[in-house]
Amino acid sequence: MQKFKVGILGATGAVGQKFVELLEGHPWFEISSLAASERSTGKSYREAANWIGSTPMPARIAEMEVVAAEPGLDADLVFSGLDASVAGDLEAAFARAGYAVVSNARNFRMNDDVPLLIPEVNPDHTALIERQDWGGDGFIVTNPNCSTVGLVCALKPLVDRFDVERVHVVTMQALSGAGYPGVASLDALGNVVPHIGGEEEKMATEPRKLLGRLTAGGIEPAALRVSAQCNRVPVLEGHLEAVSVEFKGEVRSEDVKDAFTRFRSPVAGYDLPTSPERFIEVFEDEHFPQPRRHAEIGRGMTVSVGRIRPCEVFDVKFVALVHNTIRGAAGGALLNAELLIKQGYLTKRRKVAGVAAA
Ligand code: NAP
Repeated sequence: MQKFKVGILGATGAVGQKFVELLEGHPWFEISSLAASERSTGKSYREAANWIGSTPMPARIAEMEVVAAEPGLDADLVFSGLDASVAGDLEAAFARAGYAVVSNARNFRMNDDVPLLIPEVNPDHTALIERQDWGGDGFIVTNPNCSTVGLVCALKPLVDRFDVERVHVVTMQALSGAGYPGVASLDALGNVVPHIGGEEEKMATEPRKLLGRLTAGGIEPAALRVSAQCNRVPVLEGHLEAVSVEFKGEVRSEDVKDAFTRFRSPVAGYDLPTSPERFIEVFEDEHFPQPRRHAEIGRGMTVSVGRIRPCEVFDVKFVALVHNTIRGAAGGALLNAELLIKQGYLTKRRKVAGVAAA
């Protein structure tokens, strides 16, 4: 198949760089444009990006010129890793200009007609795209906040099988989640910062939309309630979350483990290139999962759970681990775009270009 040309908005940032890494050699996508702020435009990517990737900067990308994040990019769709302070206006401008926008930013996540998407959780929510009207073929799809992703991937097998009423979660979030340069080293090293602006509110609201039901009138939010306490810890990659769940009716820790083990992703048969072999990895060893050892499982797309045990206040507690810049950001967005291709949304929007879909 002819590859889709993709632009990256915010290409120089932490998430933008992860897009560059993950798109290298991708079978369906090819980077055609790199866009960022005035600070970077006109420079080569090598000069503009302070590369923090764990693999070398791809040679072809290093020589590409960074351009302004404005419509006119030579791309079939754009991935956005834009700072939230500018993402609202710029993503809307791209949607109005007819682009498919697959975003990591928070700005449109809770809009009624914008899918907040995790393919294994709510692939049907892409139907909301039909309700968007940007005056042409453009649309916006978002992925959730990085810690919400870890929580909701772990809750999905439980919500499918049991009635989940209340969830309490304490997060230990990696420094890369704050972007680059992020938290000052004097605040981060040997320390824990017990506040991440806006994070607890996102964790309380986004799961209700993600786990909600698609109806003719839009998404009916799930009834469960989430209380979150979010902390920044001196870890590079991987958010660890200590989760307690209260169910309606009797649910034991063995039932929860069984639900995790037996869960089958609704998109398992789609052969999406970024899908991990296992959506959830269940650990028996009570010392696991740990960010440094396990965040990369499934090329960063698997969510790991462990320490599944009875809770003295709610019913069952466990820990979950998510790779925040892969599953929680760029990898999640890539998987969303792959789902859009498989479901025909990108083909439909690209009728004029006449390029065949997967
Ligand atoms: P970051 O490292 O601060 O990068 C921000 C990017 O936005 C840079 O490429 C920057 O370009 C660009 N930008 C800033 N102002 C701009 C402007 N006026 N016009 C065009 N581009 C502009 O942040 P990040 O961690 O990658 O996060 C990016 C987005 O993803 C944020 O909305 C964040 O909330 C979300 N997110 C992040 C994570 C994570 O784990 N880091 C997870 C989920 C979601 P310059 O380099 O040229 O300034």
